Amino acid sequence: MTYDGIILGAGHNSLVLEAYLGRAGLKVLCLERRHVAGGGLATEEDPRHPGFLHNTHSFYHRALTHLPWYRDLKLKEKGAVYIEPDLNVALVLKNGRTLEWWTDFEKTAASFAAFSVKDEAALRRWRKDFLPIVERILIPESQSPPIPPERRRQLLEKSAEGRLLLEVSALSPLEFVLREFENPVIQAGLLFFNGLREVDLRCRGFGHHIAALLASPGKAQMCIGGSAALARALVAAVTESGGEIRLQTTPRRILTDAGKVTGVETSDGMRYHARHFVASGLNPQQTFLELLEQDLLPRRWRDKARQFEYNLLAPLFGLYLNLNEPPRYSAALSNRNLEKAFMVILGLEHFEQFPEIVRCHEQGRVPPTAMWGSCPTDFDPSQAPAGKHTAFMWEKLPYRLNGDPLQWDAHKEEHGRAMLDVWSQYAPNLKGSVVDSFVRSPLDTERTLPNMRGGDLLVGAFANGQVGYNRPFQGAGHYRGHLSGLYLCGASCHPGGNITGLPGYNCAQVILNDLGLRADWAPPSAESVIAQL
Ligand SMILES: Cc1cc2nc3c(=O)[nH]c(=O)nc-3n(C[C@H](O)[C@H](O)[C@H](O)COP(=O)(O)OP(=O)(O)OC[C@H]3O[C@@H](n4cnc5c(N)ncnc54)[C@H](O)[C@@H]3O)c2cc1C
Repeated sequence: MTYDGIILGAGHNSLVLEAYLGRAGLKVLCLERRHVAGGGLATEEDPRHPGFLHNTHSFYHRALTHLPWYRDLKLKEKGAVYIEPDLNVALVLKNGRTLEWWTDFEKTAASFAAFSVKDEAALRRWRKDFLPIVERILIPESQSPPIPPERRRQLLEKSAEGRLLLEVSALSPLEFVLREFENPVIQAGLLFFNGLREVDLRCRGFGHHIAALLASPGKAQMCIGGSAALARALVAAVTESGGEIRLQTTPRRILTDAGKVTGVETSDGMRYHARHFVASGLNPQQTFLELLEQDLLPRRWRDKARQFEYNLLAPLFGLYLNLNEPPRYSAALSNRNLEKAFMVILGLEHFEQFPEIVRCHEQGRVPPTAMWGSCPTDFDPSQAPAGKHTAFMWEKLPYRLNGDPLQWDAHKEEHGRAMLDVWSQYAPNLKGSVVDSFVRSPLDTERTLPNMRGGDLLVGAFANGQVGYNRPFQGAGHYRGHLSGLYLCGASCHPGGNITGLPGYNCAQVILNDLGLRADWAPPSAESVIAQL
């Protein structure tokens, strides 16, 4: 069977890519090892309790409806309908006080002011200063192929916004927060958000991340019916564009001839031929070390792929509950807003907890519980049987528990019970309301989605220079591999992990450009936008 191109893995980045290429008239096939497409866009029905749905690999989709592919591919019309709850995030302290992020900025500012008037002023200042940076630099950069670092620096140095970005970036997130904010709860909240975006808080070069988050108008959203509704809409967009997805099909080898990729052989012995390209939505080790003939791989590429690093702090442990009633937080007795809080953070009181969390990850120990989660059915009753509820908590825990990921199989149930104990201290009705529960460890993440090596849900750290033009590594950062027709389109590429679809969106621009096909939907290049500042 011959196609114009073949894509490996049917994560959302691959599906975005496939839909755009299909719309350009290309005949594309996507190969996926699981029984379902969507990768991290997973919603699972509890097999023991029909009707209880759980979003086990992503729930908070930040500013998803603002993403260009959501609009271009008409995903709302295909069933991916989003809501953005007003009280977007609440950090609940043991004493019942809460630090709140609202879709309405003034309410967020008031919440900051209740902890520190000085920090409220810092919030306002950074939001004002960074709003143009987010809109005119960071968003355009995320939505087009990255600019080489030297050229980027030259361009940024020409404008006040660019210079401020460079100056703040030179700090680590920790340095930024400690320099600009004084209240330990606010410091902890901000560093938590930084952690959610998985930037190591000690890492210089990322000081702008928190300022960008403070300024960003995009908040966490959820998909009605569960995250898989977005996967289904993307599959519909692929099908509409003439694309095919072959499930339960594992690639064994990328076929090549005379320095060009020519197709893919699968583990059942089938061969699929590709006239123009093979694009991999997998990680660099899978793509370069497992699927390509090693004698055709230049030594430098082999070394770079081997050295590609994963996040120490990204793996998550999940506790998922089927409930008779939603969690009722004691703190809501004095703050009724909390009854409609979307994301709730528990166990985080002080920024000094972070060094301990990092130490525990380094040593494979379980840190004191700090976790976050939601009760999806408070906003979307369709995710449980009538009158019932679901809720979950996620906690960052080390992949190598006591030095060995297999230890999770022996300890995960016990850890789930410990999380429920902590959760119940904040929501005393919880234990009595549980119908059933299950847990997922960082090892389970890797077993389900092997591209998330070491349980790294971002499929690669931002350390080791693995950023922008050099993500996944120097030489491969523009979505192209070393062979003609080989491309990369997953979260290991710029701008990285999470449900953004942007690695796939940007890769589509590169492939269409290389094939001399029009991409009239593509935004102006980041370079041209920044040059106009
Ligand atoms: C517990 C958890 C919670 C998360 N929560 C959020 C959240 O709330 N918000 C958010 O934005 N992000 C979240 N993420 C991260 C998000 O899921 C990922 O960053 C995102 O899914 C990456 O998208 P992708 O398309 O690059 O790859 P994936 O979604 O990982 O898709 C890769 C696909 O490739 C397939 N595959 C892997 N190996 C092979 C192979 N050898 N052959 C063929 N196919 C293969 C996989 O089965 C999968 O379908 C979470 C992740 C986890 C694990």
